[in-house]
Amino acid sequence: MPSFKDVFEKYDWEAIKTDIYNKKAADVERALARTNRDLEDFKALISPAADIYLEEMARQSKQDTLQRFGNTIQMYAPLYLSNECQNICTYCGFSLGNKLPRKTLNPIEIDKEVAAIKKMGFEHVLLVTGEANKMVGVPYFKKVLEQIRTQFANVSMEVQPLDEADYHELIPYGLHAVLVYQETYHQADYAKHHPKGKKSNFLYRLETPDRLGRAGVHKMGLGVLIGLEDWRVDSFFVALHLRYLEQTYWRTKYSISFPRLRPFSGGLEPKVEMTDRQLVQQITAYRLLNKDVELSLSTREAMKFRDHVFQLGITSMSAGSKTNPGGYAVAPESLEQFEISDERSPQEIAQLIKSKGYEPVWKDWDTALEYVTK
Ligand code: SF4
Repeated sequence: MPSFKDVFEKYDWEAIKTDIYNKKAADVERALARTNRDLEDFKALISPAADIYLEEMARQSKQDTLQRFGNTIQMYAPLYLSNECQNICTYCGFSLGNKLPRKTLNPIEIDKEVAAIKKMGFEHVLLVTGEANKMVGVPYFKKVLEQIRTQFANVSMEVQPLDEADYHELIPYGLHAVLVYQETYHQADYAKHHPKGKKSNFLYRLETPDRLGRAGVHKMGLGVLIGLEDWRVDSFFVALHLRYLEQTYWRTKYSISFPRLRPFSGGLEPKVEMTDRQLVQQITAYRLLNKDVELSLSTREAMKFRDHVFQLGITSMSAGSKTNPGGYAVAPESLEQFEISDERSPQEIAQLIKSKGYEPVWKDWDTALEYVTK
């Protein structure tokens, strides 16, 4: 079956890198002047040569986002269900080799966490687990979805990649969106960071969005873990992946996230540091390439940065996040997957959003509309 693998194999990391670093001011200016931009324009916009055009990029990005999404910001909260994991990932606190008490929430604990999340006002929840198929596999996901679906307008998942049939099976239980980040598209470095477990299978992960698309999942989220490899080249591959998916699964909606490597217990130093300025460049470049893609900013980022950047192209934000199972109500002191940076409450974030003339949206009306149009 054709998949993104066939496209991916036609591209060479080093050649793309050379292309990006060789872009000149004239290439950036040409890209800025166009309305329908291609991947060559995108290379120019993420190149070092674009740095001096950042203000113009931000201006256009803000304008395009307002035009397409209005002055709204979707609010969501992650719900960590389990820190069990059979993989070794060099950058993660839940990695198999890390000694920490492992926990998977039972139905009573889930109820408590859900109540705490609802009390904060959220209608959109993102279910997160490590990758441990026996403990937290499809039967567990089904039970959780069944338990919580009526309580939220919108349920997304960020769990291990599954087979196409599994996704198919979960949709009637209320699964709306799946986020699956490639971590890095640099295959050799991917192998270094994922030495053990199912996640070490680079191609299975790479083809996950194809399986989601074929299964008919409504929305999928892409991204890389910024810090593992050259962010400019990885951004190009995310954009390439997005283009391919949009052309192949045109009914699906897409989002991109920008997780920067954060401290965790026993942590890994980023190989490549990305500055705040470069993150703005990356966010705005995606918007200039694609007017429809949703762009999401998490609490990994610092307060001040989030305050300013959300207006430049972002469409959804998390707030008040806990990255440990039971973190909201059941076991607030258990070990987090990574430290969050913006610790403000959801109400404070909502206030901030309002103070800048935007509207925080807790409910995603899309889901309701889907049922009307089916
Ligand atoms: S990143 Fe995911 S798969 Fe890797 S160790 Fe952490 S929880 Fe497990």
